[in-house]
Amino acid sequence: MAITGGCLCGAVRFKIEADAPLGVRQCWCRVCQYLGAGSGTVNAIFRKDALTVSGPLTDYVCEADSGSTMHRRFCARCGTPLFSEAEPRPHQIIVRAGALDDPNLARPGGTIWTKSAPAWACFDPSLPQTEGQPPPPPKA
Ligand SMILES: [Zn+2]
Ligand SMILES: [Zn+2]
Repeated sequence: MAITGGCLCGAVRFKIEADAPLGVRQCWCRVCQYLGAGSGTVNAIFRKDALTVSGPLTDYVCEADSGSTMHRRFCARCGTPLFSEAEPRPHQIIVRAGALDDPNLARPGGTIWTKSAPAWACFDPSLPQTEGQPPPPPKA
C-alpha cells in the first residue's frame, strides 16, 4: 500500500511506500507556529527511503528549538509546507499532515513543545504532552 499527498497547487506530488506513519506528533514549537499560521503543526514520520517526490521544492535551512539543523521543504510555487528533515536523523522524513491526501492517516500520538504554545492553545487531554523535544518514537 502507498500513502500519497501533495501541495495546495498540485505542482508537487509525493508517494510513500508504507501502510502507516512510524509516529505522529502535534508540535507547538515556535517555528511550527509560523508554518501553521498560528496553530501547531501535525507531523508524520516515515522512512526516507520510502518516499518519492515530483515537482519543485525549496529548502529553508535553520536550527530547530531542539538544536538540530533542519531542512524545511516547501512547494516552490504555492509555498505549502511539505517536509522537514533533521540532519542528525538522515533516514527519516517528516511529512506535514495537511499535505496528505488523507489527513485521517495522521492522528497524533502526542503533543510536543507545549511550553512554546500560546496561552489559548488547546491540547488533546487524552494524549501525552511533552514540554520540549522528546526522543524519537520507538519505531522510527
Ligand atoms: Zn504547490
Ligand atoms: Zn515544531
